[in-house]
Amino acid sequence: MALIVQKYGGTSVGNIERIKNVARRVARTYNEGNQVVVVLSAMSGETNRLVGLCNEASEFPIGREYDVVISTGEQVTIGLLSIVLKEMGHKAKSFMGHQVPVVTDSQFGSARIESIDPKRMRDELDRGVIVVVAGFQGIDPEGNITTLGRGGSDTTAVALAAALKADLCEIYTDVDGVYTTDPNICHEARKLKKVSYDEMLEMASLGAKVLQTRSVEFAKKYEVPVMVRSSFNDAEGTLVCKEDREMEKVVVSGITYNKNEAKISVLRVPDRPGIAAKLFRPLTESGMNIDMIVQNISHDAHTDLTFTVSKEDFKRALKLVQETAGQIEARDVIGDPNIAKVSIVGAGMRSHAGVASRMFEVMSKEGINIQMISTSEIKISIVIDVKYTELAVRVLHEAFGLGKGEIMEEAQA
Ligand code: ASP
Ligand code: MG
Repeated sequence: MALIVQKYGGTSVGNIERIKNVARRVARTYNEGNQVVVVLSAMSGETNRLVGLCNEASEFPIGREYDVVISTGEQVTIGLLSIVLKEMGHKAKSFMGHQVPVVTDSQFGSARIESIDPKRMRDELDRGVIVVVAGFQGIDPEGNITTLGRGGSDTTAVALAAALKADLCEIYTDVDGVYTTDPNICHEARKLKKVSYDEMLEMASLGAKVLQTRSVEFAKKYEVPVMVRSSFNDAEGTLVCKEDREMEKVVVSGITYNKNEAKISVLRVPDRPGIAAKLFRPLTESGMNIDMIVQNISHDAHTDLTFTVSKEDFKRALKLVQETAGQIEARDVIGDPNIAKVSIVGAGMRSHAGVASRMFEVMSKEGINIQMISTSEIKISIVIDVKYTELAVRVLHEAFGLGKGEIMEEAQA
């Protein structure tokens, strides 16, 4: 007998017919002799609707009451699934975050899980009950309802799996796994059988929207094996797990892209200590995330500095930087929202050389200009003109042999 946590996303519980479909899948797993904990999202579109209502009610709604409102979508789906499961003759019981309890900090709208007490769930499971838990929500130490940030039920599922020492956490979504790249723009994209936590973290934060980034951090920390699969078919999914020998052999596992960034360049900045701090301080103080940063070597005590921020922050960031640029006597500030970040990710990059130059050669052959470059141990990202995004993804996918199910090993690297 295994203990399995299954999480179903909004599209999988979008109406009663689909909830019945989920119930059949849950029942099947249970009937195979497993203990099952189910984590649900709200019906698709529901959380957006609730957020919309809050925004209509106030210009700055985020706070205690915001979480009271936006956490309600999950209450509906866990109740409905439990009703359907009982209708089928099973023992089922729904739990809100605070009934488990899932204890979080008090950061309303983006709370972090601090602890989960598995006792109540375990007692129910041992009595043969299918436990159905509301994703995305918790309770802070003062007893306030909190939510975990958009997409947060992935994190609930992985955290419950960790707390219960579950054998597997299955994430059911509307795609049937993690692909080498976005199948919508590259028909050659192939589903990966396995991907390491680190690779998934890079892919999740670089724009592959399959799993909430924080859920992968959790999975990595507690070594929870996570299977991403579709609730609409029985196709084998993608296993997110610890890195193994096989994975190291694969140089590039996936290509991701992100069109949601914009670039800001500050020209002829006086090159002296404290200038970068001065430029970036107002941005970080207003809660903006700065992604790539490139600074040139200086000529006659002046340098150019370029960085990227998310598109939502672009206008605000530009204004703040223009103000600082005036104070530090930089020559000019140029903003460019028409960029995309394209990245190649692979655990095998740790042990293989020449991956970056290969990537650059491919771009050069297509006449695509690289505006910025950044790297980590298992990732290389470039910023290019947004109009070349699809082309870049396709040619890189092909150049690194991702489409044909072939593995690019040392000899070719
Ligand atoms: N319902 C929440 C959202 O839409 C949580 C989730 O779906 O994971 O963000
Ligand atoms: Mg999701």
